[in-house]
Amino acid sequence: MFDLSAKVAIVTGASRGIGRAVAALLAQRGAHVVAAARGDNAAGTVAAIQAAGGHAAPASVDVTDAGAVEAMVAATLERHGRIDILVNNAGITRDQLLLRMKREEWDQVIATNLTAAYVCAQAVLRPMIKQRGGRIVSISSVVGQTGNAGQANYAASKAGLIGFSRALAREVASRNITVNVVAPGLIDTDMTRALTEKTHGDWAAQIPLGRLGEPTDVAAAVCFLASDEASYITGQVLAVNGGMYM
Ligand code: NAP
Repeated sequence: MFDLSAKVAIVTGASRGIGRAVAALLAQRGAHVVAAARGDNAAGTVAAIQAAGGHAAPASVDVTDAGAVEAMVAATLERHGRIDILVNNAGITRDQLLLRMKREEWDQVIATNLTAAYVCAQAVLRPMIKQRGGRIVSISSVVGQTGNAGQANYAASKAGLIGFSRALAREVASRNITVNVVAPGLIDTDMTRALTEKTHGDWAAQIPLGRLGEPTDVAAAVCFLASDEASYITGQVLAVNGGMYM
């Protein structure tokens, strides 16, 4: 099950948290992973994958820089001749009540979480169409489904990913390219460790399965959607949230 041997996968935001777990699992299933993050931040992920016997290479990419994304895609094609899987995972929060939200906080979140997914998807689409197949998986959030006070920018970006993915799924279905979304709930990463203990506790109390998720919980869902076994699934949102939103 979920054999990704010889598949080529690009994972954005692969330096830590969910992206690192996704990169590790895809590589464990046999994929050649391009692990993207800013500067040389993905080096640790790549070293860990290689130490486990997997194939990975780092890419130094700020996803808000379209030129850097295009260069990464060109370098991947040059090296491997194909791109089978794109995981749009890079994301940030800049939380603030709307009345106080600065334009800059809105723009940064939309650029990183939503516009970058458009840029990355557009860049891989041509090779995927040529290959007559591909998988695009974007990491949204339960917040994109429910909203959350203080996160209008983040919720808009994450809901936007869902609409974006459904539209693209319809555009490229005839080319055997599937486009899906994974919507995590509260996952134990740097992003949620930045929340106060009280907020953390309030959220955790709303989770029927009684625990925060692990990055590996999300990685398993991504790996499934990236696999041949998920070839008849497109335009879907797979919630990995412990039941906090059903
Ligand atoms: P994290 O630990 O904060 O990691 C964020 C990742 O995004 C890092 O690898 C970071 O790489 C990368 N990134 C941020 N801005 C970037 C940029 N401009 N260019 C390239 N890479 C950039 O976050 P996480 O919790 O793993 O979250 C991963 C994704 O899941 C995000 O989209 C997040 O919104 C989503 N999500 C998380 C949760 C949760 O509870 N943790 C829940 C729902 C959804 P650098 O090394 O370059 O900083």
